[in-house]
Amino acid sequence: AKQQVRNTISFFSEELKSAQSEKMELVKDLRNAIANKELYLVYQPILSVRGEVIKFEALIRWQHPKKGLIAPDRFIGLAEEFGQIREIGLWVIQEAKRALRSIQKVHGDNVQVSVNVSPAQLSKYQSENDYLLEELITECHGKSEEASPNKLIVEITEHLLMNSDESTRKALLSFRDEGIQVALDDFGTGYSSLAYIMNYEIDYLKIDKSFVQKLGAESASETLCETIISMAHTLGVKVIAEGVETREQADLLLAYGCDYLQGFYFSKPLTLYNALSYKAVKIS
Ligand code: C2E
Ligand code: CA
Ligand code: CA
Ligand code: CA
Repeated sequence: AKQQVRNTISFFSEELKSAQSEKMELVKDLRNAIANKELYLVYQPILSVRGEVIKFEALIRWQHPKKGLIAPDRFIGLAEEFGQIREIGLWVIQEAKRALRSIQKVHGDNVQVSVNVSPAQLSKYQSENDYLLEELITECHGKSEEASPNKLIVEITEHLLMNSDESTRKALLSFRDEGIQVALDDFGTGYSSLAYIMNYEIDYLKIDKSFVQKLGAESASETLCETIISMAHTLGVKVIAEGVETREQADLLLAYGCDYLQGFYFSKPLTLYNALSYKAVKIS
């Protein structure tokens, strides 16, 4: 029995070791991913209740030369942990801004692009935080001679706010001052109250897809979505529902007065090329 335990332990440590080396391999490869043009953005349409394409969310993808397509959940955390998120984050904003110009030419000047921003890009623990923030804002805002007005939205998660310090609050307020809108992502998964959110002058709440997906099946989620929407409106905040996969979910959200809908029911994230020719479906 002792031998068996020993074997089991060494089996697990072998597994751990290979998971660890797999991870370090990804970290190493990620260092060259930008230069090798292996990263790209896909764009998921966000529709108004009238069925107009009103925004696109930019989502990162990594086309690894050997491992194939890698989803952000597998490498963004590593990039944060190993100090690469700043470079990747700036690339995302530059790329999204380029895309925004082509998108506006086709879908109209009022269409916006939203980008996901990691806590590490705003945190005071980043040693060169002030510099980073300035760089971010400059990237977001663009040069004044650029034709298209700034239409970027920065998406941050509710969890960021819950662990936030004064510098995060300042960072978010300075985005606001620069005319960059702020969306609170994954709302409902943390424990922050809507009143708390008022301190940050958020423009949009995004209801987490875990709640949207239970609409029609679980009455607690229905109450939650309805309550979030009406309270957000009381505070002057618009609501985006993410992860809408069925007609029934869309109908309930419309009945609750939700402002914008996003999800596979309307469209999966698209390459820029396909985003440019995306035609909205009529929803109400
Ligand atoms: P998120 O910001 O909550 O993005 C929404 C995720 O839900 C995306 O996954 C999207 O493809 C997926 N989704 C959209 N509609 C539906 C639907 O109807 N059903 C289902 N089941 N899923 C849907 P994705 O692209 O794999 O991104 C995962 C997460 O990775 C994002 O979650 C975000 O937290 C992070 N991420 C993505 N791109 C970036 C980036 O450029 N920078 C940073 N820092 N994080 C990013
Ligand atoms: Ca997001
Ligand atoms: Ca989300
Ligand atoms: Ca998420």
